[in-house]
Amino acid sequence: MEAIYLKGNTVDWATEKVHLNQYFNKFSNVTKDSFSDVGTDPKTIASHVGFPFTDEQLYALSETCSPNLLAVEGENPIVNVDTVYHNPTLFDKTEIPSDIDLECFKLLKNRSKLQEDYIYSRLKYKNQIHLNDECRKLKADIPLGKEFIVTIRVHFPFHTSPDNYAHKKTLSCSQEIVLTAVDTLDKLRDVIICMEEFGDTSGDVSEMPDAPVKVRLKDVYKSGMFYIGNTFYVDKRYPENLDYSEVIRSWAAKRKITMNRVDVMEKTKISDLVVRFGYPYLYQHLGNCEHLFIFSDARLLHQNDIQTREQYPLYMSLSVKLAKFCTLCGSNVARWVVTNFEKLTRDPAFVCTLCFKMYFYIGKKKNGSFQAFRYYDRRAMI
Ligand SMILES: [Zn+2]
Ligand SMILES: [Zn+2]
Repeated sequence: MEAIYLKGNTVDWATEKVHLNQYFNKFSNVTKDSFSDVGTDPKTIASHVGFPFTDEQLYALSETCSPNLLAVEGENPIVNVDTVYHNPTLFDKTEIPSDIDLECFKLLKNRSKLQEDYIYSRLKYKNQIHLNDECRKLKADIPLGKEFIVTIRVHFPFHTSPDNYAHKKTLSCSQEIVLTAVDTLDKLRDVIICMEEFGDTSGDVSEMPDAPVKVRLKDVYKSGMFYIGNTFYVDKRYPENLDYSEVIRSWAAKRKITMNRVDVMEKTKISDLVVRFGYPYLYQHLGNCEHLFIFSDARLLHQNDIQTREQYPLYMSLSVKLAKFCTLCGSNVARWVVTNFEKLTRDPAFVCTLCFKMYFYIGKKKNGSFQAFRYYDRRAMI
């Protein structure tokens, strides 16, 4: 992949290749004495420094290194972060009174609103909600400062074709997942949420819309693959799984492109990987549902991280993409996709259950000829 895209060039949006295990082995050796919960007591800190400070020296040192010395005259007072955290509206701007009829106030109000809209539209992570983990109190069983964790950003799937490589839409992140070094790639695969997997294998259910869903796509099509660096990592947990890389490898072989490294997803640990941070890699499932994902961060586990192994992989954030609303009423989230119906101006049409039952059926009988498929909206399910 890189040989084709990068053509030997370096790029400023991705790092050089990093062998995760080698890198963090070296790094943890250097920092092995730094990862303990020292706290803020000067005497405890001094004992970790390993120098026999006297009390006077310790006092002088803590005064000399005090962050208070960084303050300058006329500066705003230092704010306790906890205070802001527990009172998020504490420093909200004062509302401009609406009953004052001054032009300058009206202009100021208008300008503030425009600025807010402009700033908000440019925020990179505006569509993500960060999850608050309440499981920090569980028993810690991962050693601090020895094992590392990685953050992976998985994007929504997108469609493209050989005739049109340029995407009209900007790719957006669907979820951020944190894994430990010893997690295998199949664990990553199992936590990637893709709504296509929830699809009903029954197809057109317009004759019996109330029948329960028997088999979902993910129960039938279990094959999957990652393509990282120049290696395909294929899911071989089920004997009937297909090797998606096969067709790509034979295509590449005909064109004399080297793409022949295949490994097993469930036997590959995160620590075995050699990755570029910021570089897009591929996750493919359900035949042709393709997601790009990037390694965005890696670091040694520290005391503020969750230290319980069973909590990983964990979601760090999820996208809050807008739901698809009903074409007819515009107020409910769509649950059905209807197609080939002559009384609709849109084809296909996304409709809610209420409109679906009222507009497309008379009693239990179809009100015309059409096909109906179940639709699962991500926003409504998460
Ligand atoms: Zn998908
Ligand atoms: Zn509706």
